[in-house]
Amino acid sequence: MKKAMGPETRLVHAGGDPKEQFGFVNPPVYHGSTVLYPNTEDLLAHRARYTYGRRGSPTTDALCEAIGALDGSAGVLLCPSGLSAVSTALAAVLSAGDDLLVTDSVYGPTRTFCDIELKRLGISTTYYDPTIGAAIGALIGPNTRAVFTESPGSLTFEVQDIPAIAAAAHARGLVVLMDNTWATPLLFDAFAHGVDIVVQAGTKYVSGHSDVMLGIISCNERWRARVTDCWNHFGLSVGPDDAYLGLRGLRTMAIRLKHQEAAGLEVARWLEGRPEVARVLHPALPGCPGHALFKRDFTGAAGLFAFELKPVDRRGLHAFLDGLELFGLGFSWGGMESLAIPFDVRAVRTATRWAAEGPCIRLNIGLETVGDLIADLEAGLERLRR
Ligand SMILES: *Cc1c(COP(=O)(O)O)cnc(C)c1O
Repeated sequence: MKKAMGPETRLVHAGGDPKEQFGFVNPPVYHGSTVLYPNTEDLLAHRARYTYGRRGSPTTDALCEAIGALDGSAGVLLCPSGLSAVSTALAAVLSAGDDLLVTDSVYGPTRTFCDIELKRLGISTTYYDPTIGAAIGALIGPNTRAVFTESPGSLTFEVQDIPAIAAAAHARGLVVLMDNTWATPLLFDAFAHGVDIVVQAGTKYVSGHSDVMLGIISCNERWRARVTDCWNHFGLSVGPDDAYLGLRGLRTMAIRLKHQEAAGLEVARWLEGRPEVARVLHPALPGCPGHALFKRDFTGAAGLFAFELKPVDRRGLHAFLDGLELFGLGFSWGGMESLAIPFDVRAVRTATRWAAEGPCIRLNIGLETVGDLIADLEAGLERLRR
C-alpha cells in the first residue's frame, strides 16, 4: 500500500492479500494453536512465517497490517480489550520506582489500573490537569518515566496540547503514550504530534458494531521491540473471529465516522439551543474549552460528546433517560446504535476540580436518522420538565 494513498483507500485495501487467498477479497479466519514445521531443524530454529497460534496468524496479521497502514506505526499488537492494551503498554515502559504522569481526564478503568496495580508494583502515578500543555515540564521529577495522555477525555472532552506535552516530555527523556480511541488515526495523527505509543479500544470505532472486545497498541520504531516483548511475555492473544470482526469494521470506519461527526454536531447544536441544557461539551463547537487546539490538531470530530443539564432532581433525570426509545442506556460506544449514560466525575478528580451544577450525560451518536434522535431527546426533555 503506497503511503501516498488517502486514508480511506488504505482502510479499504491494506491488510491481507487476495492473491494468497485464492482470490477471495477477505482473509481467511484461521482457527489455530499448533503450527507444524517441515523438519526438526526448522522447528528448533523457530524458522517459519507463523510459529504458534498465540503469536499471530494471517487473520490477526491482516488487521495489524491495515492498522499500521493507517497510522504509520512501526509495529501493531492486538490485545483482548482496550483496557489490556492500556495496561500492557504501561507495563512495557515502567519499572518499580518509576513515576507516571496521567491526565486527570483519563478513562476510569485506566485510572484504577494505575492506582491499584501499578502502585502495588512500586510505580506511582501523578495526575495532571489535562489542559496543562508545556507546563507539564514542572511536574517531571528524577523518577518520572512516562506521560499518559487521552485527548479529548472520553467523558469530559478536554482537548490536550499533545505536541507541547510531547516536546516537554521528550526533552527530559520520557516516553509519551496516548489513548486515541475517540479520534482514531483518521481524525488525529498521534505519531505526527509526538506520541511514541498509541492505544485504542478497538471495541469502539474500529469494530464499530458493538459486537467485539478488542485492544490495539501501535508503537514507533523506538518502542516497537520493548512493547512487542512485553506483549509476548504477558501471553496476550486475540481470537481469529474477533480479529476478523475488527478488520471488517475497520473497512467502513471512515464513512461511519463522517456520518457520526455530522450527526453528532447536529444533535450537539440542537442541545445548545435548549433551555434545559447548561452547556454542551463537544470539542468541535466554538466555545468548548480546547476548541482552538482541536481545530489546530484534529481533522474531524467523532460522534461522542456530553452535555450538562441545568440542575434537576433525580426523578427528572431518570424520567429523561428511562423513557428514551432510541438511545440505549449502556457503556461502551462507537457502534451503530445511539447510547446515553449519566456521569459524575466530581469525586474522581484529584488534580482538577470538575465544576458541574447539574447532571452530565454522555451521548454516543449512532447511525440512525438524525431527526429521530433529536425527537427522542426532545420527548425526554419534555418528560424531564414535567
Ligand atoms: C472503552 C475504552 C477503553 C477500554 O476499552 P475496552 O475494550 O472496553 O477494554 C479505553 N479507553 C477509552 C477511552 C475507552 O472509551
